[in-house]
Parts: sequence; C-alpha cells; structure tokens
Amino acid sequence: MNDNLTICPRCGGDACYKNQVSIDITNYICYGCGFQSNSLMKVGEEFYEEQIKKLPELYKDLLFKDKNDLIWMPSFFDIQGKGSVFVMGKNTNNWSWSAMKHILVGEKEKELFKNPSGEYYRYKSDTSSLKQFSQADFIEALDYIGMFENLENED
Ligand SMILES: [Zn+2]
Repeated sequence: MNDNLTICPRCGGDACYKNQVSIDITNYICYGCGFQSNSLMKVGEEFYEEQIKKLPELYKDLLFKDKNDLIWMPSFFDIQGKGSVFVMGKNTNNWSWSAMKHILVGEKEKELFKNPSGEYYRYKSDTSSLKQFSQADFIEALDYIGMFENLENED
C-alpha cells in the first residue's frame, strides 16, 4: 500500500492515500488531517456541486482548494457496527474531530430504529461514547471506533 501514499496538499503530511478507482477518478484521503478529495471535486463538476449541497455548514466553511483546484473536505465516516467520525464545532477556528461508537439496538427498542423501507437497523450510535479529538488527531478518532481492526486482520 505504500506506493499509494502521497503528500497531502492541505497539511503537508505524508499519510495521504491515493486510490485510483477508474481512468478518470482518483480518491484521496489524508489520515493526517482527515480531509479527503477526488478528481471530481472541482468547481463546475456535477459531482462536486451535488456533494456540497448536502454538506453541513461547518463542512462547507472548511473546504480547502489545492493548487490543482481540487477541493478537499473534512471526512465523514459511518461504519456499521463500529461507529462514526465527523467534524463538530462552532466555526473554522473552533472545531474538533468527534467520534461516537455503535452499539447493538436492543430487542425492546428495535421499533424505534427502522429505515424508511421498514428494515430494522442493527446498530445505533451510543451517544454516551461521544469523544472529541484535536484537529491533528483524526487517526486517533478512527482508532477509537475500531476502524483499523479489520484492516489489520486482512493483512
Ligand atoms: Zn492532510
């Protein structure tokens, strides 16, 4: 996997993974600063314009444009059975990474956790597990929800 590492244009760190998924599309995710981008994250691209409509205000405010005009945004992870990692804060000067673990939905409460098609969710966010991490500790936030446990096993 090392040959896919590149320098992150946002933070300058070397923990930025580059993953070419098709001829036209390359995904980037920096485990240093937690920002991500891809070849279609450019002003005027339909993908980008659609993507930013769905972003929370803070995510929009934190967008970063690199020298190749690629726009980087903070990551949002929601991994079934593990948890979620997202940006939380008041403004661009005052934010942190946050992580919340998933727990199994109990038998008695399962009616409360259904998707629009009526299927039951297996997991829910455990709000008591909410933990904040500094802007430089994105990877610690991922580690907190157990994000790397499978990766290690697969190697
Ligand atoms: Zn970075």
